[in-house]
Amino acid sequence: MQKTVIIGAGIIGCAIAFQLARRGHAVTVLDAGGIGAGASGRSFGWINASFHLSEAHFRLRMEGITAHHRLAAQLPDAPTSWPGTLLFETQGEALAATEADLARLGYPLQRLTRAQIEATVPALADPPAEALLFPAEGAVDPAALARCLLAASGARLWRGVAVLGLVQRAGRVTGVQTAEGVVGADAVVVAAGTGSPALLAPLGLDLPMLTRPGLMLATRPLPPALPRILVTPAGEIRQDGAGRILMPTAAGHQGDAAEDVSGLAGAHADRALAGLQALFPALALDWAEVALAFRPVPGDGLPVIGPAAPGLWLAVMHSGATLAAVAAERIAAEMDGGEDQPILAPFRLSRFARSGADFCTKNCPRP
Ligand SMILES: Cc1cc2nc3c(=O)[nH]c(=O)nc-3n(C[C@H](O)[C@H](O)[C@H](O)COP(=O)(O)OP(=O)(O)OC[C@H]3O[C@@H](n4cnc5c(N)ncnc54)[C@H](O)[C@@H]3O)c2cc1C
Repeated sequence: MQKTVIIGAGIIGCAIAFQLARRGHAVTVLDAGGIGAGASGRSFGWINASFHLSEAHFRLRMEGITAHHRLAAQLPDAPTSWPGTLLFETQGEALAATEADLARLGYPLQRLTRAQIEATVPALADPPAEALLFPAEGAVDPAALARCLLAASGARLWRGVAVLGLVQRAGRVTGVQTAEGVVGADAVVVAAGTGSPALLAPLGLDLPMLTRPGLMLATRPLPPALPRILVTPAGEIRQDGAGRILMPTAAGHQGDAAEDVSGLAGAHADRALAGLQALFPALALDWAEVALAFRPVPGDGLPVIGPAAPGLWLAVMHSGATLAAVAAERIAAEMDGGEDQPILAPFRLSRFARSGADFCTKNCPRP
């Protein structure tokens, strides 16, 4: 039985654990904190392909949506829902350009009038003239899905155990070093989010990352008021299954380039709440929590998924809520000796390497 160690119990590590365990691997997941200790525990959790950086990125995100449906069919308790999104961040020409781009790519969408928006979200005080509806989009609590995946996988979790380094023998990664000793493995997966570059650097592997902090605001629970995810000029907003309204504040989106949150988290939360209250004056809003997290964004904004060195695999990305299911399915297939997955070709670590070297993924000679 293939012994696999996964570093990181976020949504990515746990989704990979689930897929590998189904394929018969004996999986151990190590996390310095616990499930959802990183970005997965402080995410907006929007599953979408309307945001994308390239056509290949769009295709991967589309597959991400499909793979989430497959996962939900296997996990009846998966905390995934499909409310669809109403986008009115912009109006006029800018909105039309977004519509044209997504229509060209074949994305399901519909243009709504003010009256239709009003009927869909009556709590919205001043509905815009037009919006785009993306009916295929969804939402997930990434930490809750990670817990669900790990429980269903049968993988073992070592919680509170930091990996200090990767162990290499004869050019192959053979385990991980912890403060208490070495955990041996046939394969190691680094799914450590922002902690990944530090693990790779001693092996001479460079994974450049952007510094992208984000604040996530959560209100106290309310009765159902927002039937859709909303992308407004004030930011992205959704109501979760517990009735809380969630909204990224400060640096709001992956597209934002701010490297610090500049100001107290509580002050940002107060401002964001005032913005929310202006949008929904009839709702009795109060914020309960604001959480600071660093988004794991590789240097060009795109995911890194696949082999990194003999015995070593890598899955580091933003939009992990959207991409977890597809990334896990595809990397597990490759790790099991399957064909290289063409959809992952643009997302290899080798794009950052000066040599541009690719690594063998199947029938590789063992050193
Ligand atoms: C504010 C915010 C909003 C977001 N909104 C969205 C969204 O709407 N849609 C979307 O798709 N994505 C969104 N994201 C991104 C998404 O949440 C992340 O891409 C995803 O959670 C990454 O999951 P992960 O498992 O790779 O990393 P993480 O959840 O960060 O997990 C990595 C884990 O590795 C552990 N670790 C790190 N180093 C070590 C080590 N040396 N030893 C042991 N353990 C280690 C950490 O403790 C952590 O638990 C958002 C992120 C943020 C912060």
